[in-house]
Amino acid sequence: MDFAWSAENDAFRTKVCDFLDSELPADWQSIARHGPGSREQTEFSLTFCPKLADAGLLVPHWPEKWGGADRPTWEHFILGEEMWAAGEPRGGQYMNVNWIGPVLMRYGSEEQQARYLPPMASGRAIWCQGFSEPGAGSDLAALRTRALRDGDDYVINGQKIWTSYAGMAETCFLLARTGEGREGIAVFLVPMDTPGIEVRAIPSLIGHGDIHEVFFTDVRVPTSCRLGQEGEGWNIISYALSNERVGIPRYEMSSRELDAMVAELKARESFGNAIVRSKAAEAAMACESARMLVYRVVDERARGEPPGTAANLARVAVVEADHKVTDFGMDFLPDCFSGDGHPAFQAHHERAIVTGIAAGAAEIQLNLVARRHLNLPKGA
Ligand SMILES: Cc1cc2nc3c(=O)[nH]c(=O)nc-3n(C[C@H](O)[C@H](O)[C@H](O)COP(=O)(O)OP(=O)(O)OC[C@H]3O[C@@H](n4cnc5c(N)ncnc54)[C@H](O)[C@@H]3O)c2cc1C
Repeated sequence: MDFAWSAENDAFRTKVCDFLDSELPADWQSIARHGPGSREQTEFSLTFCPKLADAGLLVPHWPEKWGGADRPTWEHFILGEEMWAAGEPRGGQYMNVNWIGPVLMRYGSEEQQARYLPPMASGRAIWCQGFSEPGAGSDLAALRTRALRDGDDYVINGQKIWTSYAGMAETCFLLARTGEGREGIAVFLVPMDTPGIEVRAIPSLIGHGDIHEVFFTDVRVPTSCRLGQEGEGWNIISYALSNERVGIPRYEMSSRELDAMVAELKARESFGNAIVRSKAAEAAMACESARMLVYRVVDERARGEPPGTAANLARVAVVEADHKVTDFGMDFLPDCFSGDGHPAFQAHHERAIVTGIAAGAAEIQLNLVARRHLNLPKGA
């Protein structure tokens, strides 16, 4: 077992860091303050991602055919670590890179691939993910948005909620029902300017315009918008989520925020206290545990193994690390978390509040760990 990075990995990380140093503007922290789903950061991504693509750093792990360079899985994670630690200048485009693109490569028609993959690989595509509904979040299979077949079209009616990026997205990766049960779910790739779609921002403490309600009223799309077959939707999202469970390496961001908190405490000559030091150590351990559990998932993926329970464990650990770090900061540097305090700590704190619910609640991951890892009966 070798935990060290190779010289090639180190060189790749340096290349990514150099790129960030040269391309992030002086006022980047004030842009990043609003979170990856904000209008500010989404707009920024539309100039940043094309440059990243030109440097060969947007989709290096994608096949050459689709603008990538067939680079190893580990490089994709190194890239993600540096991007998230910098505040995620790719905005919502990280989703394209991590899972929407790979899902289209696997399930898309030639026409869908030719239409959607090149703009993603060149850093010019904003998508949103239309999964959750009122009454269908953790229990996603309860979704009620319906797509009724009408000749060569589908007519979609229903409502989505908590949809990140919807305010600026061109396309929605939408789940809708064509029949009953899990087998009755299909995926549609819906242009957001289709008549009948209404987007309303939900005011929230995170970001500027980060989350939305999206209403579909008699939205007519051709059958060519369906991804895969009717009834294949559940398999498609299972594949998508297996890609995304550890897609946001927040342990790296948490770990660097913790370093910054410790540096601030030292500057204030407040790091000598034994309680402060032991709490910092606990937070550091949580970050490193999360990192190791995520690396296990990356290792499985790099070896081509199917996703197992490691991803569920890793996701819970990442959430815990987030919470430990922000709790540490709130306890010992409270002034940084109010008013004009410390923008990066505040941004981290706001995301830490929702990290255990966005992208699937941590409790649901614990249920899965209990069933799949500990072999406990369902509902025990
Ligand atoms: C910032 C943010 C961004 C988001 N972006 C998107 C997006 O872009 N697209 C999208 O489709 N969705 C998005 N979501 C929605 C997210 O996926 C859901 O919030 C999540 O799946 C939980 O669903 P829910 O909100 O309906 O909560 P519920 O499912 O009602 O859960 C409420 C609470 O009950 C707990 N709970 C529920 N069932 C169980 C159970 N069986 N056992 C134990 N505990 C349980 C949950 O853990 C949670 O704590 C986003 C959410 C947030 C906060």
